[in-house]
Amino acid sequence: MALSGLDIYKLLPKTNCKECGFATCLAFAMALAQKKVSLDKCPRITAQAKEALDSAAQPPIKLVTVGTGETKIEVGNETVMYRHEQKFFHPAAIGFLVEDTLPESGIDAFVSSVNKLVFERVGQKISASLICVRNSSNDASLFANVAIRIAGRTDLNLALASNSSLAIEEVFKLSGDGRAGLNLPYHARRPLIICEDSSAASSFAEIAKKYNVPIALTCSSLDEAAQLTDIVKKSGVDEIVINFNMAGLSKRLQNFTFARRAALKKNIRALGYPILAFTTEQDPAPELAEAISYVLKYAGIVIMKNVNKDFVFPLLVARQDIYQDPQKPVQVEPKIYEIGKVTKDSPVVVTTNFSITYFTVAGEIESSKVPTYIICCDSEGMSVLTAWAAEKFTAERIAEMLKKCGIEAIVAHKKVIIPGYVSVLSGKLEEVSGWSVSVGPREASGISNYLRNWK
Ligand code: SF4
Repeated sequence: MALSGLDIYKLLPKTNCKECGFATCLAFAMALAQKKVSLDKCPRITAQAKEALDSAAQPPIKLVTVGTGETKIEVGNETVMYRHEQKFFHPAAIGFLVEDTLPESGIDAFVSSVNKLVFERVGQKISASLICVRNSSNDASLFANVAIRIAGRTDLNLALASNSSLAIEEVFKLSGDGRAGLNLPYHARRPLIICEDSSAASSFAEIAKKYNVPIALTCSSLDEAAQLTDIVKKSGVDEIVINFNMAGLSKRLQNFTFARRAALKKNIRALGYPILAFTTEQDPAPELAEAISYVLKYAGIVIMKNVNKDFVFPLLVARQDIYQDPQKPVQVEPKIYEIGKVTKDSPVVVTTNFSITYFTVAGEIESSKVPTYIICCDSEGMSVLTAWAAEKFTAERIAEMLKKCGIEAIVAHKKVIIPGYVSVLSGKLEEVSGWSVSVGPREASGISNYLRNWK
């Protein structure tokens, strides 16, 4: 939690000596709160006050990185309880769990399925983030071989879950001696190591420190989480994730919320780490509902079992929506878009540049099989009715876009179709643009039929 100027002032020497370049300690405190000056400008600050101020400057929820390079995932560093207060910053990573007891053919099929969990929605790629292998066999050698087999078959990030730190180190040792045939030793991909036995937290912390990988600690209560993170942090590891494993969805969500609130509102550092949640439901539909609940409140990593894309896609969509900045709607570039093999006689449709509007309209036009031009007007990312109400989608703005985009030189007609919801614009638009205006359907679902009958 960021300190106010007055909070900072209480920690300063209050001598008003001016050595920092400010007339008073209060003026310095105000500048410090606004990050216009650094603390070291005050030579009289006590060590105790410095420690308190340095600590307050840290993000309330630690940023943790799993993986490396372009595919790495970053979780944590969140600053608000509710999205409308600002936004959520680091989208929850969606992972998939496989047991090391599965036969090789099953493991290969599983990895292949997870690799294919890549979708495009409103112009953005959404996909799975991570594969987690669990040491259910309690056989370190088998676990290591399965983990390495998976690493060789995916570019996704990796997680290792076990009760035994020896099993984790076996993976690193086996992959590090060159026999495993991986491009990189396993630990160099910065997997998340998940300690599933809280009594083994210290030995896991040693492995995390030795190989510079993030660690997840399994805890059954807030108190236990605070104790374990403190122990692990003191051992020199600070990329920590908390895996709450208390029974029951409501109990878990309650604890996730308490932990987030404690970190953000009470500045309780021991709970200021991202949260990991394994789903417990077996059937795909309840598991999907459970996973979405975790994404909403407040897991940074969610690991599920079912890899059926029909159930994964809605989860990825929910995540995409929750982590969208509410003050910045997803937009497409305002310009002419060609759908299909357009000609000079193709219809011209205008709409706004709100991504969801554009992709919905484009999808319906594609399914109509009528090659069409879409002209997206700059509505600052608002949908049709919102933009109209905000005067961002007016007859004058549409006319200006028709002129500016160059469509007049592309088609051999001057007929434009506007959304049914803004039929009120048709007369004025004809007047200011010189184009003949047709009013299209209100809903995108009517576009296909409308275009097939358009002349
Ligand atoms: Fe206050 Fe420190 Fe500035 Fe002196 S140098 S006025 S003690 S803040």
